[in-house]
Amino acid sequence: MNFLHALTGSFSQSAAGNPTVAMIEAAYRHHGLEWRYVNCEVAPIDLAAAVRGARAMGWAGFNCSLPHKLTVIEHLDGLAPSAEIIGAVNTVVMRDGLWIGENTDGQGFIEALRPVCDLEGQRVTLFGAGGAARAVAVELALAGAAHITVVNRSRPRGQELADLVCAKTGATAEYAHWLPAMPIPAGTGIVVNATSIGLAPGVDEQLDVDWATLRPGMVVADAIPNPPRTHLIRTAEAAGCTVLDGLDMLVNQGAIAIRLWSGVDVDRSVMRRELEHVLGLRETANTL
Ligand code: NDP
Repeated sequence: MNFLHALTGSFSQSAAGNPTVAMIEAAYRHHGLEWRYVNCEVAPIDLAAAVRGARAMGWAGFNCSLPHKLTVIEHLDGLAPSAEIIGAVNTVVMRDGLWIGENTDGQGFIEALRPVCDLEGQRVTLFGAGGAARAVAVELALAGAAHITVVNRSRPRGQELADLVCAKTGATAEYAHWLPAMPIPAGTGIVVNATSIGLAPGVDEQLDVDWATLRPGMVVADAIPNPPRTHLIRTAEAAGCTVLDGLDMLVNQGAIAIRLWSGVDVDRSVMRRELEHVLGLRETANTL
């Protein structure tokens, strides 16, 4: 018998609305892993102590969510290359006694995108320039996208992200100020919403976009996980685009974190079903 489980978890504030624990523990159970994931409420002032505590208790790693994605870096021993460029960490892994920061948000997005399109040489229109947009832009550029148009409401953040992509990756990028009824630039192959527009409870909010400029054949992805069928997803589907919802991105970033911690490539459908269940999007739970 082994009564000592490997420990992982999440540090955030506020933690109560974060469903990650449900989907990760569903994967652990499904694969018979003797691992646990503990969702912890950690205030900014307590972050250093929490990281020291995780080390003292032998945790295999942890996720960081808001507001710790930037500030956790000063408590780590090193960063993976893409986390270094993005400048934010959402997953921390214990490797040979060192805490290494990774960013699986953008990697999860890329894993969802790869089965539906070839990324090489793509022109991308990205709405948003916050943490999610930074992760998505950097990973898209590292995965072979040729050009990214960053559309953002506030110029400084949008310009900074475009400059970051140009300086640190092989792709080109430009900032486009978000005008009313913003057209999708001609030649765009992939459209991404990485703003918080459409996130519950603001489910009726829409991007201010000229919808007639969505073309069949475009891939349209929304980072909003809840609800997954946003106005953007529904409109793009009706326009004949290939769509990807934010639940796939959320599931993938969690599955990549589990792979980094345990080496196990888990069944993502189990995680997605559990998420849909806890978010009230489906009636039956996983039978595990
Ligand atoms: P940030 O607060 O860092 O960034 C928010 C972005 O949304 C900014 O670009 C902001 O523009 C823009 N924005 C917000 N409201 C409006 C508005 N009314 N009109 C125009 N632009 C607006 O948040 P994150 O980047 O961390 O997260 C963004 C979204 O991505 C969240 O909803 C989150 O749920 C989702 N997400 C999903 C993940 C997944 O796995 N599916 C992973 C991580 C995040 P401005 O700069 O002008 O303020």
